Amino acid sequence: MASLPWSQQLVEQLADKKATGRYRRQRTRLGEQGVHVVIDGQKRLSFCSNDYLGLASHPALKKAFIDAVEQEGVGAGAAHLLTGHSHYHQKLELALAEFTGQQRVLLFSSGYQANMGIIDGLMTRGDTVIQDKLNHASLLDGSRLSEADLLRYPHANMSLLHKRLDKACTAKNKLIVSDGVFSMDGDIAPLPEIMAQAKQHHAAVLLDEAHALGVLGEHGRGSVEYWNLGQDELPIIMGTFGKAFGTSGAFIAADDEVIETLIQQARSYVYTTAQPAAIAAATLASLTLVEQESWRREKLQSLISQFRAGAKQLGLNLMDSSTAIQPVLIGDDQQAINIGKALEEKGLLVGVIRPPTVPEGSARLRITFSANHTEQQVTQLLDALEVICAD
Ligand SMILES: *Cc1c(COP(=O)(O)O)cnc(C)c1O
Repeated sequence: MASLPWSQQLVEQLADKKATGRYRRQRTRLGEQGVHVVIDGQKRLSFCSNDYLGLASHPALKKAFIDAVEQEGVGAGAAHLLTGHSHYHQKLELALAEFTGQQRVLLFSSGYQANMGIIDGLMTRGDTVIQDKLNHASLLDGSRLSEADLLRYPHANMSLLHKRLDKACTAKNKLIVSDGVFSMDGDIAPLPEIMAQAKQHHAAVLLDEAHALGVLGEHGRGSVEYWNLGQDELPIIMGTFGKAFGTSGAFIAADDEVIETLIQQARSYVYTTAQPAAIAAATLASLTLVEQESWRREKLQSLISQFRAGAKQLGLNLMDSSTAIQPVLIGDDQQAINIGKALEEKGLLVGVIRPPTVPEGSARLRITFSANHTEQQVTQLLDALEVICAD
């Protein structure tokens, strides 16, 4: 096999990542995503999936998927604008417009692509995009792809958002972009204040609801429902299906003009193959469960409260999160890795998150809960943390 002319550089960079504890590796799962997973051949109790409602392996989703495969085959075979857009995609777009209270919805093959598409498709030279510093990588990458200027404000800092908006006063159009629930901290963005500032400065708002849809609000409608926003003050919504919905793919919900604009010029929409119709069929089944089975959200909330109460008693460094993402701040990279390993030796799997995913000095355990966890399993996690963190 021929190696790259600069292969030696790669070898050195990789060695450096290993030496500093920042080397990423794939691990192989066998069997379903769930509370128990078999990973690299070992059965583990998992607290690190984003399957918050426990729907990824739900029988109703499986059945909808398999039935649709029988009717529609597997591959979509083309982009949405050619022959890839099936009647299941169409139905899902209509159902999601209803769910979000927005005029129109456009499906994307992944959340990453949806974020690239909405920012690049909507914003251009002379415009300014203003982002929270802890926004998801795909939102920042969307800004990189677009020719609009990018300004960032410190996490959830509303007075500095105000300053950035002032600074952008000569921009033609302004878009404020925030996660609804922040993926590594678990906290909820102050949406009412963001909306108020947007109004004052004639800016638009894009909210990434990847970790909020299905989880926040009585019917799982996310931040908008959580904050009780009215129909006439909705931000543009990006939602994903790979988390609480238990499937895969994503969407943008907005008004007719925004969606039509994306269809014309969002490159990550136009130039990619549609997701399989069966995924849309499974997502429709999932949407019904998300809306109707409020017990999943109630159960999740009770597990979260149990964990937070227990972790506080242990003196663990929790973050200000009321959502299914419960980080335990460790600080030092190596110490976080060691705690992760010790938990795994006890059969427990948690996320160990290090820079550059989070700021320097803020390595953490990223513990996530699912409606399918039991109280006993949360107790088991707390007991293990007590033993390990007391060492
Ligand atoms: C997961 C995630 C995405 C990307 O969605 P995918 O469908 O996994 O590509 C975007 N934004 C946030 C906040 C996320 O957590």
